[in-house]
Amino acid sequence: MLNSLLSSSSTPVNSLPEGAGSPVLYTPSLTQYVRRKTSTVMIGDVPMGSDYPIRVQSMTTVDTMDTIGSVEQTIRMIEAGCEYVRITAPSVKEAQNLENIRKELRARGYTTPLVADIHFTPNAAELAARIVEKVRINPGNYADRKRFEFIDYTDAAYAAELERIRDKFLPLVRICKEYGTAMRIGTNHGSLSDRILSRYGDTPVGMVESALEFLRICEAENYYNITLSMKSSNPQVMVQAYRLLVQRLDEEGLKPYPLHLGVTEAGEAEDGRIKSALGIGTLLEDGIGDTVRVSLTEEPEREAPVAKALIDRYTNRAATSQPIPVVTTYPINPFQYCRRLTHEVANIGGQNVPRVIADYSRVPVREHKNLHPIGHFYLPEPDKWRMNDLGADYIYTGSYPAQFMLPNGLKEVLDYTVWQTSPNQTNVFPLLTTAEYLAARATQSELHPRLNFVRVSLPSSSDELFTTLKADTTVVLLISTDNAHAMPELRRLVVELINRGITAPVIINRGYPAVSEEEVPLYASTDVGGLLIDGLGDGILLSAPQANPADVDLKRLNNLSFGILQAARTRITKTEYISCPSCGRTLFDLQETTALIRQRTDHLKGVKIGIMGCIVNGPGEMADADYGYVGIGRDKIALYRGQQVIKKSVPADRAVDELIELIREDDRWLEPTFENAL
Ligand code: SF4
Repeated sequence: MLNSLLSSSSTPVNSLPEGAGSPVLYTPSLTQYVRRKTSTVMIGDVPMGSDYPIRVQSMTTVDTMDTIGSVEQTIRMIEAGCEYVRITAPSVKEAQNLENIRKELRARGYTTPLVADIHFTPNAAELAARIVEKVRINPGNYADRKRFEFIDYTDAAYAAELERIRDKFLPLVRICKEYGTAMRIGTNHGSLSDRILSRYGDTPVGMVESALEFLRICEAENYYNITLSMKSSNPQVMVQAYRLLVQRLDEEGLKPYPLHLGVTEAGEAEDGRIKSALGIGTLLEDGIGDTVRVSLTEEPEREAPVAKALIDRYTNRAATSQPIPVVTTYPINPFQYCRRLTHEVANIGGQNVPRVIADYSRVPVREHKNLHPIGHFYLPEPDKWRMNDLGADYIYTGSYPAQFMLPNGLKEVLDYTVWQTSPNQTNVFPLLTTAEYLAARATQSELHPRLNFVRVSLPSSSDELFTTLKADTTVVLLISTDNAHAMPELRRLVVELINRGITAPVIINRGYPAVSEEEVPLYASTDVGGLLIDGLGDGILLSAPQANPADVDLKRLNNLSFGILQAARTRITKTEYISCPSCGRTLFDLQETTALIRQRTDHLKGVKIGIMGCIVNGPGEMADADYGYVGIGRDKIALYRGQQVIKKSVPADRAVDELIELIREDDRWLEPTFENAL
């Protein structure tokens, strides 16, 4: 019944975002797991493309001139799962030393392909292309120096620029062709050329065009051993750019090149993993991506296991998924963020930020301190509740009502049967199953006059349900799925709501009973973030599947929920760190410095701080940041406000204090409070 119901239900609504109904070319399927069919690229003896497994790769951080250090780090990365290893070659001397590194690796029995990472230096690229298996160039700076100038090009002047690029780039293409060397044309959102920025702006369109300018030169030379990437530290921009790239390759009749996925400067620890999973996982769900590099401000051998965990999720995806009805009308613009139109129910949906619901259904709420993990604190003196920036909005207590009066900023949700006998039906809201909801509406049983949560899954939906929902302004849907192809099934359900003109807000509910602690943030960021990134979702409920209350880590789930909302740029609650993963160019200890800056600033709200290891790429890469801390020499730091250098050469031991001073001057500094410390 479900299949016929859904395939016949595609009446578009008036409020569709731009692009509604347009053919979706960026994925082979919105509903089945299918890898995008690509050409094969030979990188040494490890081919890349859709006929091969999705590859894991990473980049060294030691100085490229330190041959043994580079070799030993490369071996640690290979042992951790890297199938390609990238090494920076900022100048000819490092490019030359790749030969020594490669020889030593081969002597030790390691044949993993090496990739030279090039910025600004065609001569280093041309040398490296004769030594290693692949060269990565950045089209934003291969033939251009950044001057932050806006230039109003005529078509003729633009064409002359392209001719200039061609002259600079062609020698490398010819060397790669001659030596059988592969190439990645790797666009970074943060380092687009002045030419691209002037014509296309700081946009996914500009990112794609930046790569295509170089790609067309390669194809004209019949050189096709190419992979492409579209990285950004903003997962929303990154996802849109990759989708657009796939579409543009197709439209322009260019080859379907394999794609290298990554979120740049994702940061460290859980936040870095959340951001990476959200961007990379969202694309993998739609069959896009042939190699993954997770960029963390940690030792590079810690990146490969994260990439592998993201990739492994798809090994059996096609075989283990339940069929999902096809999409006949797709009302979502995949290239531009637009939040789904919903009506407001209590403080959910409409213009409200997405809400966080904490799952207390297995953890009793008997004492005030039970709410500490979700950011609510009772202070006996002066007898008040306080909330920190990660204070949850609702608690779901299932069958066990809270034993005390909750703070004002926190509301309770109870299972419907328990709610019916609750003495406090005003400030507590019921959660109904689909069957309970339909029965209650059919029999006109009592429901809450303002807010009723209803559990819905795609298989449990029906015409009757949709018709009833359309006439009901009190419902918030709690959507969930048991399908292994989870995000696409949830997305399919929301597509159905949009196509039927149902504007009830949606809370995305996921739980992970059978996966490791390390995998939970990766899976949740993909499943929930993959919807939020397209403007679908008005809240999040991460279920605590552990049977034993003592095992439920509510603080971790709560932080994860807020982390996902922040990474999807839908609710900003904490400081964001855009820190580079470090490489052979790095001028200070990035991990130590990031930890120090985080320790002093992570109570600030909505401030973005870029922490970059070098002046060569740093300022460009942190384009999105409000403040920048950039290495310019040994123990010398430049501090930025946005893209502007404010303090040019600050001694490293004073730089964090001066950064705080800068934030203070802008009135964005807050003193840490008691709640921040908890
Ligand atoms: S910004 Fe960081 S990762 Fe990028 S080149 Fe500089 S030091 Fe290396």
